[in-house]
Amino acid sequence: MYRAPRGTADILPEEQRYWHYLEAGARAVAQRYGYGRLETPVFENTGLFVRGVGQGTDIVEKEMYSFDDRGGDSLTLRPEGTAPACRAYLEHGMRNLPQPVRLYYFSPAFRYERPQAGRFRQHHQFGVEALGDGDPSVDAEVVEMAWQLMNGLGLTDLTLLVNSIGDPQCRPAYLEHLKDYYKPLAERLCQDCKERLERSPLRLLDCKQPTCIIMAQEAPQTVDHLCPECRDHWKKLLGYLQKLDVPFRVEPRLVRGLDYYTRTVFEIHPAEEGGQSALCAGGRYDGLIQELDGPPTPGIGFAAGMERMVLNLKRQEVPVPDEYFVKAIVAYLGDDAKETAISLASQLRSKGIATILAPAGRSLKAQMRYANSLGIPYALILGDDEIKNGSVVLRDMTQGEQREIQLQSIAEELDNLITS
Ligand SMILES: [Zn+2]
Ligand SMILES: [Zn+2]
Repeated sequence: MYRAPRGTADILPEEQRYWHYLEAGARAVAQRYGYGRLETPVFENTGLFVRGVGQGTDIVEKEMYSFDDRGGDSLTLRPEGTAPACRAYLEHGMRNLPQPVRLYYFSPAFRYERPQAGRFRQHHQFGVEALGDGDPSVDAEVVEMAWQLMNGLGLTDLTLLVNSIGDPQCRPAYLEHLKDYYKPLAERLCQDCKERLERSPLRLLDCKQPTCIIMAQEAPQTVDHLCPECRDHWKKLLGYLQKLDVPFRVEPRLVRGLDYYTRTVFEIHPAEEGGQSALCAGGRYDGLIQELDGPPTPGIGFAAGMERMVLNLKRQEVPVPDEYFVKAIVAYLGDDAKETAISLASQLRSKGIATILAPAGRSLKAQMRYANSLGIPYALILGDDEIKNGSVVLRDMTQGEQREIQLQSIAEELDNLITS
């Protein structure tokens, strides 16, 4: 028997209420902040991600689903949403629109990861990108938006971490300080960090190995080595967030390892878990569009993991509206009644009442059991007598009461019951 591939999951009808709830919440936030929906293909040219996510990252080196298509082009299932959004921004000349261009998306993302709780090889993201404006007010907008999203969903006990990692003007000098700090300690670093020390020293700060965490606590901090422009940007961002009453914590060990990430980085974490569990991660990437052969263009965004949000909605027992749409079932006895039942079901649907027909060849009792097990609130019963009278029996499945009603007024009657 086939099973869903390792690290993937079916999202069954009974789970969908969480997804609808999340999508509705995220869409509402995006619209309130003036973001327009963007959909990009599920696969892109591999080069986009090699450049746009970055050679040397785990994603590019170990996690991409890349394949040659029948024409010999190398394509990759999207591992993240920012590079495709930037590609679309360039391809459609969005730099000629008023800036910033505000975009949001819902999309699956594919990474060949070791499957574990909250981590999937196909997962889903809600993401936003604001492209073309480097002002710190845009950073504040995006951070606030992520915070509003989580709060609006009813999630609590969250921590918002922010940091500034500088830019190409101030980072090289900072990295030298960092390397000077770590060199005498190199023997005690974990194997990964030993390798990162020259190639990607910033990443030493967010290593999860206990001994590396201890060393990172004493390491020089990016925010103490910002150039005047970056410091000004950082101070303004913090001022705006305070003004907006967005509760944040400055986390000096929050970093991104690649050159095109600049200044603001942020994450939102749930209370229960450790460092691997961000619900949402974002930051500024002023160098990315240039990396994709575009003109210098600032950008900032975040992506939130839908599966992790669902997990946390369940853990926190956030009340999510129940969604069983079927309001009525048409039950019947006999072939004449069956024809009338088929038309009645159709007629009710066309009036907007979600209706199903009872399964064929069962006793009335069995049809009622069927309705009960699906939790359908109203049953309409047609037998020979009702056909003769031009009527139908309306049964309230929760109360167990029933009465006879003329066929022509049943839709209106049901509609009143359902909406009252
Ligand atoms: Zn380490
Ligand atoms: Zn700087």
